[in-house]
Amino acid sequence: MRQMKAETGITITAEALRDMEEEAGRAFPAEACGVLLAEAGERRICGLRVLENRIKGEEAERFFEIDPLKLYRAEQEAEKGQRKIIGFFHSHTEAEAVLSETDESYMIPGMLYLILSLKERGSGRLRAYLKSDPGSPAREVPVETAAAQI
Ligand SMILES: [Zn+2]
Repeated sequence: MRQMKAETGITITAEALRDMEEEAGRAFPAEACGVLLAEAGERRICGLRVLENRIKGEEAERFFEIDPLKLYRAEQEAEKGQRKIIGFFHSHTEAEAVLSETDESYMIPGMLYLILSLKERGSGRLRAYLKSDPGSPAREVPVETAAAQI
């Protein structure tokens, strides 16, 4: 996994955002989740890998958990394609795109956490967060959508 600094913003391709929205809709009312992929050395999210929310039933409407073995396999696969996992995404079905206490307590320092809210509309529906080191609080990272690069 690739460490990231919070000073500058992050870009997500329109395709990756569309994939995330589709998956959030498909998983509803459960939270969707997965990993964010970027080309080596880039701060642009160029793709997603949807991973199953291991939590089932009503709890899945407020929490998500990724199987570590599936995460490991996703990383192996990303590396084969010259890509890196730079963070995670998940959806909030009833809440704003703000980190919950649980979200923040499970954050891995240096990894980007993207939240897509199905409750909100407009630019506020997608927010990104980063924790630089274990002792520091999470900070919001500006995120913008980029047109596709051909
Ligand atoms: Zn959350």
